[in-house]
Amino acid sequence: MVVQSKSSGVPRRQISDDEVPEELKRLGQARDALAQELQGLLRTMPRDVPAELAAMIDVHLQLLQDEALQDAVTVWITQHHYNAEWALTTQMDLFARQFDAMSDAYLRERKGDLHQVVDRLLHHLGGLPLTSMARPGSNDDAPRILVAHDLSPADMLRYREGAFAGFVTDVGAATSHTAIVARSMGIPAVVAARGASELVPPDAWIILDGDAGLVLIDPPAQVRAQYQARQLELARHAEGLKYLAVVPASTRDGQAVQLLANIESPQDVAAAMHAGAAGVGLFRTEFLFMGRGSDLPGEEEQYAAYRAVVEGMKGLPVTIRTIDVGADKPLDGIRPGVNPALGLRAIRWSLSDLPMFRTQLRALLRAAVHGPVGVLFPMMGNLDEARQACAQVDLARDELAAQGMLAGTVRLGAMVEVPAAALLVEDFLQQFDFLSIGTNDLIQYTLAIDRSDETVAHLYDPLHPAVLRLIAMVLTAGEQCGKEVSLCGEMAGDASLTRLLLGMGLRHFSMQPTSIPRVKQQILQSDAAGLKAWADQVVRSPTPRSVWNSGSPKLHN
Ligand code: PEP
Ligand code: MG
Repeated sequence: MVVQSKSSGVPRRQISDDEVPEELKRLGQARDALAQELQGLLRTMPRDVPAELAAMIDVHLQLLQDEALQDAVTVWITQHHYNAEWALTTQMDLFARQFDAMSDAYLRERKGDLHQVVDRLLHHLGGLPLTSMARPGSNDDAPRILVAHDLSPADMLRYREGAFAGFVTDVGAATSHTAIVARSMGIPAVVAARGASELVPPDAWIILDGDAGLVLIDPPAQVRAQYQARQLELARHAEGLKYLAVVPASTRDGQAVQLLANIESPQDVAAAMHAGAAGVGLFRTEFLFMGRGSDLPGEEEQYAAYRAVVEGMKGLPVTIRTIDVGADKPLDGIRPGVNPALGLRAIRWSLSDLPMFRTQLRALLRAAVHGPVGVLFPMMGNLDEARQACAQVDLARDELAAQGMLAGTVRLGAMVEVPAAALLVEDFLQQFDFLSIGTNDLIQYTLAIDRSDETVAHLYDPLHPAVLRLIAMVLTAGEQCGKEVSLCGEMAGDASLTRLLLGMGLRHFSMQPTSIPRVKQQILQSDAAGLKAWADQVVRSPTPRSVWNSGSPKLHN
């Protein structure tokens, strides 16, 4: 079943059981207010206006009181836990389709009236008028797929509780944060399916092939059966890899490799532990700040979240990144700059609001009392920023001491996400205890390709020689000065790249927990020393992909 919704600014929120009565009440109040408004219009209508106008308002009143509409919207709220605005627009689109199918022209035209009534209701609800759609369909228990023009990372977080079995968006790219969050939820998503939100009928059955990037609408029974068989096979394969969670990740020639987890919230700790992660290599804390208007989390709330992660990981190392907002992760109400990807993002944002930054640092230092914590600064571009960020940590520590509060020891690290950081790697290694290569952004900034723009997604290439050489430079420098360099971009979780990265010297991979088993399988079958010459050849080649494709040393079973 498909739930289709254009991203047109109407608040779409999955509500809890407790909120259902309140949403119904809001809807009832909006309905009453609109009825009063329409009745008032009828009462005060000047005599000389055309009779059709009064007739139209009458039709609107009838639609407003239509039981079928009221009942259906109620079902969306009570059974599917949609907020009132979303329930309303969802149902409206389903009815609109029914109107479209009517042969009677008069009835077909009532669709416009319905739109107007819903828009006015939205107005009374305080939401924006919109034109989105969805319907329960004949089988309410079927897994639902959200088809939208676009979804923000904050939208995706709201759907974490399992409201949808998959996502399709018209726009976006595989390493956009929206896609990353979908991946972390372990459910299929297809982005950049142009026109999907217009083309997919709300009651269609669709197959979502996230691996191939395919959306199949109302496929024939034979294709369905094939996909069902494949689904079973994948589930069996995943089941078969479960035992790997307790197997140490080391290569055949005895090189120990650390497989860490990327997480977005304390809830993800369970998945990280389940997958046998050796720790958390990247906790993207910005997700704690998103989708909550101006009500940003204070020190206590942040401390509780960080502490929950540290304690949940039971003594394993946890690397927590300071807030990385901006670009495709805007905070509510903050106007994007002229060019968000190159603007006040990540560490730049933190350094522009030092009290806010120190609030986060104090919470992090307090959490470090409960277990080993690394603090990671995103998008570090120069040494001045590096020094300022480290100085703020000292200040935050002093502030805690002045209040008589305990602060733990933290390791300090920087993300290598812009070419400048890679080129300054030796200086960065002197300043920091560890580095983490964020390839999602390193590729974006090296190749000047917006990672969330599907029109240039074909140019976004992890195997571009410039990207590989920068990664190799950073890994070699880390090895030479004996400091840890990890890689936490999506490349780390791509099992087809594991051997290349191993050969390049990477020993700390951080990825979505769901990727750990497949990457571990590669590691267990690889001979790290034997991969080095081949990896050097790939990195030095002007066309790395051709060398990578043709000559990789065999895996051992
Ligand atoms: C990266 O850029 O590779 C990274 C891990 O950070 P994010 O995806 O959150 O920008
Ligand atoms: Mg990044």
